[in-house]
Amino acid sequence: MQDKDKTEEELIEELTRYKRLLEAVTDYIYTVRVENSHVVSTTHGPNCIRITGYSPEEYEENPLLWYQMIYEEDKNAVLEQASKVVSGKPAPFLEHRIIHKDGSIRWVRNTPVLRYDEHGQFIGYDGLISDITERKMIEEKLVELAERDPLTNIYNRRKFYNFLEDEIERAKRYKRPLSLIMFDIDYFKKVNDMYGHDVGDKVLIIIADIVAANIRRIDVFGRLGGEEFGILVSDTAIEGSKALAEKVKGKIESHNFDVAGKVTISIGVTEYKDDDTSDSFLKRVDDALYMAKDKGRNRVEVV
Ligand code: GH3
Ligand code: MG
Ligand code: MG
Repeated sequence: MQDKDKTEEELIEELTRYKRLLEAVTDYIYTVRVENSHVVSTTHGPNCIRITGYSPEEYEENPLLWYQMIYEEDKNAVLEQASKVVSGKPAPFLEHRIIHKDGSIRWVRNTPVLRYDEHGQFIGYDGLISDITERKMIEEKLVELAERDPLTNIYNRRKFYNFLEDEIERAKRYKRPLSLIMFDIDYFKKVNDMYGHDVGDKVLIIIADIVAANIRRIDVFGRLGGEEFGILVSDTAIEGSKALAEKVKGKIESHNFDVAGKVTISIGVTEYKDDDTSDSFLKRVDDALYMAKDKGRNRVEVV
């Protein structure tokens, strides 16, 4: 049945039903009227306050509010979507962040639907805004679980090895140096035996924190096994990575580990060579670490 065939009563009933449905969901709709590719008015549905903290009146008072509240890094993507629909071209939904009135960051899904008048003339669009913050948080948590070691919160073995393959590709392609550091805690079994597993765990956490604080943001730091760690030092030749290893060794050595007292680590360092595979690269750094243990521990060996 076409709208024009419906009685006024039927239409009112239908509209009331839509209105009730819309009020029942937390999503809201904003309506943009466009003339000659220019926005002539924007109105926000009453539910906007539930998602953004702002009332429809506040949107009306400040025509730039919708833009100001977009998370800085997402502004370009939102503008791109808006410029498409303002010129009458369909655009897919976009997921982006906003700053809620209370200052918190929220994720929304913005689905624009073009509107035409009875002559088929483009007259604007409706945007459906849904709050997807909870889903995004769960997604982030899942990624974290898949990539991170739960005890130390640094990368797990699998993620570290993925980075290793990527970094090798990068080093080859751009002919940039790449170093690999591997270290293992000295006599760690004794720490567990003397003070218990919980104290051992605490030592692992502190060591990871100390190392993380002493490397660059671009370096990749991961837990490779029980008390064995790796650092991928990109764009760095052997002199630089050896200096980093010595610095890290010194920081651990001089730290006072509460119950456990003094703890040291042994470190192997090596630089990527042209014909290396990830296996040969790892094998060499492992040999270096083994040498450091063999030569008395609490030392750095380069191979
Ligand atoms: P070395 O100087 O030769 O490395 O001696 P070590 O005692 O550190 O070496 P070994 O490989 O014999 O022992 C490693 C110990 O690390 C054994 C294991 O109980 C402990 N370990 C591994 N993972 C964990 C962990 O998640 N928590 C705790 N507390 N201990 C761990
Ligand atoms: Mg050990
Ligand atoms: Mg070990």
